[in-house]
Amino acid sequence: MLKNKTALVTGSTSGIGLGIAKALARQGANVMLNGFGNVEDAKAEVAAFGTRVSYHGADMSKPAEIEAMMQAAATEFGQVDIVVNNAGIQHVTPVEDFPVERWDAIIAINLSSSFHTSRLALPAMKAANWGRIINVASVHGLVGSAGKVAYVAAKHGVVGMTKVTALETATTGVTCNAICPGWVLTPLVQKQVDAIAATRNMSNEEATRQLLGEKEPSMQFTTPEELGELAVFLCSPAGNNVRGVAWNMDGGWTAQ
Ligand code: NAD
Repeated sequence: MLKNKTALVTGSTSGIGLGIAKALARQGANVMLNGFGNVEDAKAEVAAFGTRVSYHGADMSKPAEIEAMMQAAATEFGQVDIVVNNAGIQHVTPVEDFPVERWDAIIAINLSSSFHTSRLALPAMKAANWGRIINVASVHGLVGSAGKVAYVAAKHGVVGMTKVTALETATTGVTCNAICPGWVLTPLVQKQVDAIAATRNMSNEEATRQLLGEKEPSMQFTTPEELGELAVFLCSPAGNNVRGVAWNMDGGWTAQ
């Protein structure tokens, strides 16, 4: 379905971004990966689907590096048809103690980077009259949780930006939507499980049950594979008129 399309997925060396990159490659898309850590393994996992895969190491907190990445993708593939804004970090501390440097980093990586990729991708998408911008927000784009002031502010911002981008492209073949996962067991969340286990002096299994039980009625993690299939749907012809939604996949978290 996505043969001859190119997808740029930020933060795709692990977790949700890698899951989405693989799902898009399975549909035939060429993929540019981004992120830190185990780049070679991520490239091999996506390349297994037989499409072209490349990588750019832009730090998503740095607008000049984001510009260089967008330029590199356009040069290498001719065009960026699908942008998945996924890179993100977390920090959990009450407002009055929240480190200013962490606030700045979370706003830059989790919010501003999506603005930069979108503003840089939109002219070519509009010229081609086809494009998909998928912003990986969170249930925290819809509701708050104590201790996550920067993350919740950034993700609410992402949902707002999604609506504006969708309105500005509403009469074109370009769509913009947000995906709002509940808990997904990635390194980002395992750190929070570890913190519960350490502070409450309990096993990983019990800490996992408590983490889920506090927020997610299904008591199940959403998987990167499930989120990948949602991204595929948004890229499909059936998604042509899905515009500006914040689509939660959260085990009932926000239904409460
Ligand atoms: P993860 O830690 O597995 O992956 C994060 C990715 O972002 C990695 O590839 C990492 O290298 C990259 N990254 C981090 N800082 C970067 C930077 N400065 N520049 C470039 N890349 C950078 O985390 P994840 O859970 O897969 O999270 C992915 C996205 O999903 C995030 O935006 C997160 O907020 C969102 N999300 C996660 C959950 C969850 O439960 N895991 C729930 C809702 C939303």
